[in-house]
Amino acid sequence: MLDLSQVIDPVYIATIFFFIIGLQRMSNPLTARSGIVWAGAAMLIATIVTFLTPSLSNFALMALGIVVGGGLGYVAAKRVAMTAMPQMVAIYNGMGGGAAASISAVELLRTTTASVSSLAVIGGLIGAVSFSGSVIAFLKLQGWIRQRPMTYPGQQVVNILILLLAAVFGLLVLWHPFALPLSVSLLLPLFFVLALGFGFLMTLPIGGADMPVVISLYNAFTGLAVGLDGFSFATPNYAMVVAGVIVGAAGSLLTLLMARAMNRSISNVLFGAFGATEETGTVVKGSMKPIEADDVAVMLAYASSVVIAPGYGMAVAQAQGKVKELTDVLESKGVTVKFAIHPVAGRMPGHMNVLLAEAGVPYDHLFDRDEINPAFPNTDVVLVIGANDVVNPAAHRQGSPLYGMPILDVEQAKNVIVLKRGQGKGFAGIENDLFYRDNARMLYGDAQESVSKLTHALKKL
Ligand code: NDP
Repeated sequence: MLDLSQVIDPVYIATIFFFIIGLQRMSNPLTARSGIVWAGAAMLIATIVTFLTPSLSNFALMALGIVVGGGLGYVAAKRVAMTAMPQMVAIYNGMGGGAAASISAVELLRTTTASVSSLAVIGGLIGAVSFSGSVIAFLKLQGWIRQRPMTYPGQQVVNILILLLAAVFGLLVLWHPFALPLSVSLLLPLFFVLALGFGFLMTLPIGGADMPVVISLYNAFTGLAVGLDGFSFATPNYAMVVAGVIVGAAGSLLTLLMARAMNRSISNVLFGAFGATEETGTVVKGSMKPIEADDVAVMLAYASSVVIAPGYGMAVAQAQGKVKELTDVLESKGVTVKFAIHPVAGRMPGHMNVLLAEAGVPYDHLFDRDEINPAFPNTDVVLVIGANDVVNPAAHRQGSPLYGMPILDVEQAKNVIVLKRGQGKGFAGIENDLFYRDNARMLYGDAQESVSKLTHALKKL
């Protein structure tokens, strides 16, 4: 008779290729959607085939878990606003870390082989840190706890001591015969409490603006924990190992890319408590000069080149559709329109690309910072739509917390029109002297409304 369990490994290997194809397709906005489908299909197939594992029990419980988890995930994903995506990623990632830590706990309770257990201990530690750290990241981004870094003297020393203590308990779990009279069932909870505590405490001093980088780092942690867990079974689960390694590698690269785009080191993100103190000593000269939509429309109609620099505010206002409409009207009047895309504009990498692609802005209209910066001095009008930190010239000024962050040099354009609701600062909480420059004008209001007004006024000209 056909032994169905023999198909498990070949199918797992096939899903690994699906995951890789999916990830590769996600790296381009044009193929990203199909990349999600490939990866989703791989996950579905891997889940189904796991049910063929010999000596599996508790089918009903597993099916219940899948239905409840899948149902909650489906509803949450359908309802989440694009701007809340980072916290959603944080909480899902935390679930992955928690699941990895739980698998480690189960394996540690039942295995005795030292080498296998040591992988489970490391996986458990990393998974637990990723879980509790991601929960704090979620709470901060959701605004349910203070977003600013929570710091106190000696904080890093306390954190390191807790990590060391967790490591000691991890070793005691491994060598519990020597740790008598403490039993594994007592050592293991203590080990996990310390690991979870370290994740909480290490994330509290990190500011809200750095959270996307931290989430990406925890994502890499979760991948690593899952990969280690894959090895910790009596029969290694290679789908888990490879999927974990892929997530670990992708998360690590993304973390590095984001940190580089902000000109920060990972240790500065983790331990720098960026945003803990208000900026001091900024000298902003002049005042913000308001302008009406009708006047901007005239300016745009007579321009030959316009660059649109979108940021987080465009995402909040969900203005991307209106921005596409405005682009069409401008192009119908013979104006060249380009988009300046900063790698960390918005709240997640690729945020602007996703929104603009969703609105149908052709991909060849999007230019990254290095491509567009040389063009600003010859640009007639730059429309800054809900961007702030990524266009803040303070990044060129020594002493500014933003110093060194590569920005879009929009201030070099002939005219800069800034669309924002009021005098709010950017995510980094730093005053933006671009808004006070002679060539800058402020078009106040919600970005979607302001862009609609511009299109309307342009059509009448
Ligand atoms: P910012 O968050 O700096 O500024 C957004 C601006 O949009 C605010 O000044 C706000 O001003 C305005 N705004 C908000 N809502 C609206 C609305 N409805 N209509 C019009 N304007 C609005 O955005 P940036 O995109 O410039 O910068 C992103 C920040 O996030 C950077 O500090 C970056 O380092 C950080 N970050 C991004 C990551 C990423 O991957 N993208 C990762 C990590 C950090 P007002 O309140 O006056 O309207």
